[in-house]
Amino acid sequence: MDHKKLKIVLEEKNQPAFRYKQITKAILRDAITSFEDISTLPKELRAILSEELPILPFTLMNVVISADKRAMKALFMLSDGKIIESVLISPKPGMWSACISCQVGCAMSCDFCATGKLGLKRDLTTDEIVSQAIFWRGYLKNEKIDGTYANIVYMGMGEPMMNWDNVKESIEVLTDADLCNFPNRGLSVSTSGIVSGIKKFADTFGQVNLAISLHFASDEKRSKYMPVNKGNNLEQLKEALQYYLRKNKRKLFIEYIMLDKINDTHEDAVMLAEYLRSVGTMHLLHVNLIRYNAIDGDHVPSTKNTVQNFKKDLDDLGISATIRKSIGDDIHGACGQLAGHVVRERRDKQE
Ligand code: SF4
Repeated sequence: MDHKKLKIVLEEKNQPAFRYKQITKAILRDAITSFEDISTLPKELRAILSEELPILPFTLMNVVISADKRAMKALFMLSDGKIIESVLISPKPGMWSACISCQVGCAMSCDFCATGKLGLKRDLTTDEIVSQAIFWRGYLKNEKIDGTYANIVYMGMGEPMMNWDNVKESIEVLTDADLCNFPNRGLSVSTSGIVSGIKKFADTFGQVNLAISLHFASDEKRSKYMPVNKGNNLEQLKEALQYYLRKNKRKLFIEYIMLDKINDTHEDAVMLAEYLRSVGTMHLLHVNLIRYNAIDGDHVPSTKNTVQNFKKDLDDLGISATIRKSIGDDIHGACGQLAGHVVRERRDKQE
């Protein structure tokens, strides 16, 4: 729900000031999904709001649930007919994290990512971003799914730093105690390494987590698989990370997707360790190793054994690292797979 529009509608209808708080609390915090269900509102006002203000700025097309029930993927149709995806996962029992999108498609064209293959269609508005998080809060409540809704991660479709104004505003709305009231530290933003964005983020959000999709520690390989590296090379990225660490002194997460024989050798581990050592402040850097989730058969995931060996190499080189277990790959809801649905449709049409 667009809280700014709500304010305007309430003023136009000469409603008392307390109504705004009453409604934002009900919709944004208590996960009530219809104005009709806010029993404290006069009947007439409920009807007006239902008519004039959509609670969600998109239509739910479907929710697919993974076999282990630890991941759910929602497909939403926006008001202009474009489609986005958003995922809810349970990284551990009793805990839920929403992975939300910030753009329709993405211009960054990372070679191993389904979203990147779509190209950029458009930025999402603040309301479209926030509403994904609100949707999942309501979904957990309505489906009577137990557990804490603990995290919201900007790791769905799109590059957050390329839609900075709306992403920034969405974080403000999500963490505003009078609006969505999510804790700052429960939010994480992931970037492919937009240097100017990392600096803006460091200046703006001291408490929100930041993750860097590094994936390669040589400019040659990184530029080949991640075109973003051409304008934001590893040296420039290093300076941005140092800037962030100086300002915030908070743990920085380094994401590393493991692709068979592309970035998973012993030499790659040594290069990664050297690069991170050159960033400095080692105790604040943590590497998440993610086995590539196959989408189109373009690449092959590293074997489980190789991932283990890579982690051991990092351990021996003094780098803190975790192997992240993939959740939701059977519903194409895992890291790098979002938009798989649309990609499959497009391919079918070409055949
Ligand atoms: S990995 Fe992220 S930045 Fe790269 S194309 Fe996919 S969505 Fe965009």
